[in-house]
Amino acid sequence: MAEQEKTAITPTREENYPGWYQQVIKAADMAENSEVRGCMVIKPWGYAIWENIQKNLDIMFKETGHVNAYFPLFIPKSFFEKEAEHVEGFAKECAVVTHSRLEDDGKGGLRPAGKLTDELIIRPTSETIIGASFSKWVNSYRDLPLLINQWANVVRWEMRPRLFLRTTEFLWQEGHTVHATKEDAIEETYKMLNVYTRFAEEYLAIPVIQGEKTESEKFPGAVSTYTFEAMMQDKKALQGGTSHFLGLNFAKASNIKFQNREGKEEYAWTTSWGVSTRLIGALIMTHGDDNGLILPPRIAPLHVVIIPIYRNKDEQNKVGNFIESITEKIRHLKYNDEKIKFKIDGRDMRGGEKLWEWIKKGVPIRLEIGPRDVDSNSVFMGRRDKRPREKVGVSVDDLLKNLPSILDEIQNNIYQKALNFQIENTIKIDGKNSFYQFFTPKNKNNPEIHGGFANSHWCGSSKCEEKIKDDLKVTIRCIPLDAYEEIGKCICCGKESKKRVIFAKAY
Ligand SMILES: [Zn+2]
Repeated sequence: MAEQEKTAITPTREENYPGWYQQVIKAADMAENSEVRGCMVIKPWGYAIWENIQKNLDIMFKETGHVNAYFPLFIPKSFFEKEAEHVEGFAKECAVVTHSRLEDDGKGGLRPAGKLTDELIIRPTSETIIGASFSKWVNSYRDLPLLINQWANVVRWEMRPRLFLRTTEFLWQEGHTVHATKEDAIEETYKMLNVYTRFAEEYLAIPVIQGEKTESEKFPGAVSTYTFEAMMQDKKALQGGTSHFLGLNFAKASNIKFQNREGKEEYAWTTSWGVSTRLIGALIMTHGDDNGLILPPRIAPLHVVIIPIYRNKDEQNKVGNFIESITEKIRHLKYNDEKIKFKIDGRDMRGGEKLWEWIKKGVPIRLEIGPRDVDSNSVFMGRRDKRPREKVGVSVDDLLKNLPSILDEIQNNIYQKALNFQIENTIKIDGKNSFYQFFTPKNKNNPEIHGGFANSHWCGSSKCEEKIKDDLKVTIRCIPLDAYEEIGKCICCGKESKKRVIFAKAY
């Protein structure tokens, strides 16, 4: 790369990563802040990505035996209070409904009236309200396992909102399952973690690390929480989603009991697991570049955008007919078991302007077609995994023959790029000084991109965890599932440790 190319997004990632993130969302027209503080409006391009996430995950949930249902948005406060850790974990971010109507306040305004005796919480998560149904649905071992998923919105009051990453209201799915034995419930917890991991890697092209959360980072009320963590391009971690083994905690809180084969009544074992619109934030920050969004073909709302180039009516007709003959054939092509999604951008504006719009939106393949291409029976192709000006002429025959494999290649390329980045920035660190250095920016006033994943020893004490969090804002992201036994010294206190864990700054 000899010359410095002008970028479509300012600031660049290097200059100001959070600023870059916001500008990418704006340039791709994915979402915006709403009039309601902390809440976002998801615009059609962002929502189409969510729909694809939803559609593909839903298939995977159903393949593993789950079915969808829907439960109330409101949770009676009394339900919420049944699980002590749970209520403590969510108490600080709950929206509470206290009244049922409005009345004239006599001063031209309105005031709430009809005070509720049992106040309602707008669900931050649905363990307790779903548990109330489950206690009725589960009677015998024959009713188990009960495998339910819900697609819904939830509310967690957010003081520092950021589009897709932290918003007061967000969209998600929450799986809730009930099992006869502890082993079955644990197996389910791992199974869904694996479903998520497969989805992240194969669809979102985001490489992740699977692991268990420490005691202080686990879901309030869970026995154990499993997570998949991804590295963003500013080298911070993003928790992609979680899967919880809830033990008997919620069964006891909601009275979920069943008669076992011997006719004896016992509490059931439950799990829950979820991913949210946050995955879109992960997608942006894993793949995007200084020209905007880059979408993995398997999740892109559009695979191919076709831009006709012409100067007069005659050329417009000539190019138009040619494009029609090509799309007639693209219509019959399949990629990843689906029709190839294409769009002809015939808007009355400059070709260059259109091109850049689609680059910023992250569409995998752009085809420019002008009168000369018609004569040579070819197209001009640009790929979002390559530089914007790196375009090649391709014969129509080759294009039609190779389109699905080009999409595969793009999918693999961006996954590989993200994986290399994660590997390059995951470092074994054994000395306390080098650990502190790793997580301290050189420029304190305007911190440069620094850090990464530190794979370091930890003694298991929450004191050490707390100290590192206070000193560096670094947390233990997870205890990787593939961490092997190895004697070492805790990065904080120097006491003996048997395993390395992943430390990072995080979203
Ligand atoms: Zn320690």
